[in-house]
Amino acid sequence: MRHITKTTPPQEFVEYLKTPDVSFDGLSGVPKEALRQRLLEDQGYICCYCGRRIDNDKHTKIEHIKCQKNHKHLALCFKNMLASCDGGEQDRADRVLPKHKVHCDAKKANEDIPISPLDEKIEDYLMFFPDGTVKGKVDIGKELIRILGLDTDFLTIQRRNAIKNYKVLPVSDWHTEVERLKIKGSDGKYEEFCFVLQSYAELCCEIESKTPLAV
Ligand SMILES: [Zn+2]
Repeated sequence: MRHITKTTPPQEFVEYLKTPDVSFDGLSGVPKEALRQRLLEDQGYICCYCGRRIDNDKHTKIEHIKCQKNHKHLALCFKNMLASCDGGEQDRADRVLPKHKVHCDAKKANEDIPISPLDEKIEDYLMFFPDGTVKGKVDIGKELIRILGLDTDFLTIQRRNAIKNYKVLPVSDWHTEVERLKIKGSDGKYEEFCFVLQSYAELCCEIESKTPLAV
């Protein structure tokens, strides 16, 4: 998971909040599009939980960190909103991909996560491995994996493939590469699964530092 720094809500959404009987369910059209766009920009066009590439389309959900059911007063709070992939729901409905267990927003439903991507410590609780698996550090990490379904076969395979494709790229300096993966590109986007690739790059840094220099 990548730490997310939120900016400010778009003007179209701020205007919408001034309408009588305003509600999240009533949000649609331009204000909703603008809101989703801002969320995407803030988080570099990757799912707030799994890191898959997302865009401003029907597959991207506006996720409430604190669920609407138990925290009604936060349903329209910009700081409580993130952009999530559809967790496989759409894939299942469209029958494009084989059925698989849902993850992210779809899996979380009305549960609360112990720490959100808005907390800068979020990156300390999950460990990713080159075979695509993920492990949680202490109870917080384990809860994140359980509540968000981050260990579903589907995501494990996606992460494994991302690393497989990444491994063949020529990298001259792994330390620089680690730093590159931490920031958005010139298009405002993070690499898909950037924090997974970063784990691999950090592993390469470690190996490099243990390998004696050739003379
Ligand atoms: Zn996701």
